[in-house]
Amino acid sequence: MRAFVALELPEAFADETAALSRALVEACDGRFVDPENLHLTLAFLGEVGEAEVRSAMAALDAARLGVGPVRLSATGLGTFGRARDATLWLGIRKDPQLLSLSTHVREELSARGLSYDEKGFLPHVTLARRARLPRGGLGELAFPLPDVATRLTLFRSILSPDGARYKPLYTVELDARPRSQRQACPKISERKNTSPITR
Ligand code: ATP
Ligand code: MG
Repeated sequence: MRAFVALELPEAFADETAALSRALVEACDGRFVDPENLHLTLAFLGEVGEAEVRSAMAALDAARLGVGPVRLSATGLGTFGRARDATLWLGIRKDPQLLSLSTHVREELSARGLSYDEKGFLPHVTLARRARLPRGGLGELAFPLPDVATRLTLFRSILSPDGARYKPLYTVELDARPRSQRQACPKISERKNTSPITR
């Protein structure tokens, strides 16, 4: 199957990005990404088998620790390809935490023998493909407000002539606590010698 690792967009950021897309539909033709499919790719794996999917899940388990939730700040629109047939995307600021997460994910994939597209990481949310950009520019647009992403997901991508569908295979929540703190707090049942609560 075809797979990739991405950050899911938090709800408000996703809604505001969808609103931006709706405004863009007015200004340019193209195949716009459905709102529920908006995401920020961290590593594109391509074709993988069942065993590699399990390894990728383990890589996510490892990568989620230590980095913590990631700030998403929109920087503006950008394109790949020609103005008459472009991939149109929303750029995301290269925040240190976001870069660190993408590095962690890629390292954990490599450590398990998984390969991914090695192009430099350019954080973006693809809004439309085959977009034809108008000569006169796109006019006034409202961009999503900064937000925080917490969900790191391994997706399956199912290609079809009407556009790809993405199916989440495995999701982890980003955990901000450093490694040392994660073990420092015993389960309640293990806290035998605590003093009784006084009122
Ligand atoms: P289509 O290819 O039909 O336009 P799609 O690009 O949405 O659909 P995929 O090609 O499966 O679907 O891509 C899934 C995600 O991975 C998208 O975010 C896409 O931008 C990204 N991606 C795809 N190919 C690469 C690649 N070679 N390098 C980096 N990212 C990629
Ligand atoms: Mg593609």
